[in-house]
Amino acid sequence: MKGKVTILMFHRVSDTFFDVSLLIKRETFEECMKYITESYHVITMDFLSQNFDKWENIPDDSVVITFDDGWIDFHDTAYPVLSRLKIPATVYLTTGFVSSECSYWQERLNRLLTPILANKKVLLEKVNIVSTPEINLKLKDLISKSDGKPIIFKFIDYLKKFTNDIILKTISELEAFLEEQTITISEDEHRSFVNWDEVNGINKPDISFGSHTVNHPILTNEQTDIVENEISKSKEIIEKETGRDVIHFCYPNGNYNEEIRKVVSGSYKSACTTRAGFVSRGSDIYALNRIGINQEMVSGWRGNFSKYVFTLSLFLESIKK
Ligand SMILES: [Zn+2]
Repeated sequence: MKGKVTILMFHRVSDTFFDVSLLIKRETFEECMKYITESYHVITMDFLSQNFDKWENIPDDSVVITFDDGWIDFHDTAYPVLSRLKIPATVYLTTGFVSSECSYWQERLNRLLTPILANKKVLLEKVNIVSTPEINLKLKDLISKSDGKPIIFKFIDYLKKFTNDIILKTISELEAFLEEQTITISEDEHRSFVNWDEVNGINKPDISFGSHTVNHPILTNEQTDIVENEISKSKEIIEKETGRDVIHFCYPNGNYNEEIRKVVSGSYKSACTTRAGFVSRGSDIYALNRIGINQEMVSGWRGNFSKYVFTLSLFLESIKK
């Protein structure tokens, strides 16, 4: 690990979530953090970006801890652990989610899945379920072939090539369609994301807030004006709400291109991707590799934290192509 920095990416610290690739359980997270403080140098994103060019002050075996999206469990579950262990972290907020009652579109879609499959016959009889022809075709194709859960991830992956507007419109149409058929959709009674009071309650300098856009679009699917607005507006909003400078950015879903990178580099000091790998001298500060951590990657056969599985996962992720 000489000369290398590992940026760890977390999403949900919770016991349940439909997408287990984004989840780590509270106890496992705490064990993982304890191990990290004992075995690595945890540095901040500020420190990394300030020392990036010369690199000489960055210790070997350095780790940066990051959280994406601004899930409520960062505030309720992860932050108390970090605070107790005095571990710094950066949280990338999607400003449109903060202080909102909204659910992430993938979660909304997941809630529709059970009623959709239960009413498969009715849906397949209709010519149009949703208004975008190719999405309609794909959805009907997926429904007709499948009886189970895996179609949700196939459909999510497929939708990721569309603009945020089309994705949200499709989900609203699906919800309306099911409602029309008087099919009940289960409600999520828990708030998904943090609010500004909670963000401002975390006033420890060790926790910094970065931007993850306003609406979490996949920026490579969007027009230039939307890209520019998502990148600048989110920074403005966090700065206004917290009174703190926002200098770190994180690309939604990790997607960026040269044009997007250029826009980001105009107003931020760093940007993270979701591409797996370590960071070293000469890496691009506006396209930082990270290693996404989930329950499976850090737990042994008993289901609790294993430093061997964790270390092996870091290695395997870093050589993943
Ligand atoms: Zn995200």
